[in-house]
Formats: sequence, C-alpha cells, structure tokens
Amino acid sequence: MASAPVAPPSHAPAPADISSIRETRGARRIVIAEALGYCWGVRRALDIIQDAADPEAPVAPIGDIIHNPQVVGRLRERGVEGAATIEEAIDRGAKRVAITAHGMGPHLARQAADHQLELIDTTCPLVTKVQRLAQKLVRQGYFLVVYGDSYHPEVKSVLGWAATSKSVAAKKIEQLPWNAPRGASGDGKITPPRKVALVSQTTKNIDELMEFAGKLQEMVMPDGGEFRLCNTICEPTSERQNALKRMVDQVDLVLAIGGQKSSNTARLADVGNKMGVTSYHIERPEDIRDEWLAAVGDGNVGVTAGASTPDDVISDVVNYLAARGFAPPDGGIRPVDPDYVPAY
Ligand code: SF4
Repeated sequence: MASAPVAPPSHAPAPADISSIRETRGARRIVIAEALGYCWGVRRALDIIQDAADPEAPVAPIGDIIHNPQVVGRLRERGVEGAATIEEAIDRGAKRVAITAHGMGPHLARQAADHQLELIDTTCPLVTKVQRLAQKLVRQGYFLVVYGDSYHPEVKSVLGWAATSKSVAAKKIEQLPWNAPRGASGDGKITPPRKVALVSQTTKNIDELMEFAGKLQEMVMPDGGEFRLCNTICEPTSERQNALKRMVDQVDLVLAIGGQKSSNTARLADVGNKMGVTSYHIERPEDIRDEWLAAVGDGNVGVTAGASTPDDVISDVVNYLAARGFAPPDGGIRPVDPDYVPAY
C-alpha cells in the first residue's frame, strides 16, 4: 500500500529558475535520479549472505537482512530466513545466524557463542563507524544523543555498543530527557549535562538533523556547556537525497521505490514533498494509482529508490510507466561502479 503524500509546508523553497523548469517539463518523460537504489553497504551485505547461503545449512539473520520483501522472498528460497530473536533461530534449529547491515549490539555475538552458533556479520562498515564513535564519545565523557528512530535496529545497535545509561535516541527535541537550557532553574526544569554529543542514524535527512542539532545546541551551550555534532549520515544516503533535489526541478511527480519499512525510502518521499513536488513512497508498480499519472498530464515522472531496492524492482516501475506512455530514459537505470567505496 502506498503512503499518503506529505503536504508541502508553506515555507517550501521556491524553485530557483521557473523558465528553465517550463522548458524541461511537458515531455512526458521518465527522469531517473542520478543516484538511487542499492547502496554500497546493502550490496556488500547481500554479497556476503548470498555467498554463505546453503539450503542444507540455513542461515537466520536476526531481523530483516534487507527492508525489501521481494529480496527477502528470494533469499528464503536459498535457506536464508530472518528470525526476530536468536531464541527463535535456535528453536528453528538454525546453526548459523547473521547480523544484518544495520548492525547489532555486542550481546548478539555473546549469545551466538554461548549457543555454539556460527555468526555471519554483514554490518555495514559505515554503521560500525558510528558504533565505534559512540563508544569513543562515551569514553570522553559525553552524554550521547542518537538522532534517529528508537525502534530502528541501527539505532539500537549504536546504543548497544555505547553501553551506557547516559544515552538516548530522539527524533524530536521533546523526546530528550531535558526541557530547559543549561543554567535555567525553577520548578520542573530539567537541564542537560555539561557535555553532550550528537550522532545520527546513517539514513537521516541532513536538513532535519541540522534543525534538531540547532535546538539541542541552544540547550547545551549556555553556562559553560560543550556540544559536539558528528554528522554520521552516510555518503550513499546523502547522494540519494542530493540527486533527488537536483531532479525535482524537472518533474511533476516523484515515485520513491522501496519496502514500506525502509526508512531511507520514506525520507526520499519526504524530501520530494518538502521541495514542493508531490511524492509517493511505493513498494511496487501495483501501488501506482491512475489518478497520480493523470495529474501529471504532459509532465514528467521522477523515479528514485531507497538503499535496499533492487534494480529489477526499479525496472518494473520504469516499464510500468513506459507502458502508460512515458518515455523511458536513455541508457537504463544507472551504471554500477564495482570499485566504488564510500568515504568513511
Ligand atoms: S544506507 Fe549507508 S550505512 Fe546503511 S547500509 Fe547503506 S551505505 Fe551502509
């Protein structure tokens, strides 16, 4: 089921050059974002798990190996089926468990060792970087704030490695354990400690992180406080968001393709809507509604996809649009550089 578009806020930025936009519209084209779909970390995790897959020796990733139902279904046929907990994997008779690209706290390795299970670690190195950074910041005496969804496995893994009660996950300033800036006093005022550091879930939106960081800094800095911001949004996520921002001037509708649980796909649809172009998070071509395409008229449809969306699902959407009269892009979806390694 497709999610509803978020209404563009009244402060959505106006496009810079209206005349150039008019020239590019009206072609009824499919415009593909320059960066979309599988990120480096997801490709790496899938390569590891596919190499390990053996129907005779099932592997149970703890959680979804990837937030994409089509890929999860294909892996299941090869003996790779997720389990919610290590206990569930043991009950199923699995002798091999896997950590997903989102990472896990250190408890999983201990539990696997206790039960003599083989452990396959597909944690994205860009997530490992955040886990190590969290440990370092805690050692340096900072209270750790993780900007992200508290229920997300990556955020839980970062907090797990930080291993301290002086840490919290928050996406809104109201979710923090403080309600007043340092130095404030009076009934009900709870102020932050002197040293606070902020890291981000790797798939968050930079503009929203900066807004959150600005408010947190105002709470921490007074009265000799120290605030440290570490931008840990990963390069592939930033690239996808920036490619979408470059594309929106050319299109009248954005389709962000990805599993409904995919956080970074939801962010892409948010970015499109905030930039004033109606954007929908879809999982598959069947989610596209005729009225969306009717509203585009002679305009263009932009296609982007989250970091866990396979190329064939993107192609299915492109073919669906082409069958409805939108001109497909020259040169397919995009080239894949096998030597690419993101900065970290
Ligand atoms: S989105 Fe970024 S951190 Fe997450 S798996 Fe992909 S490259 Fe790694």
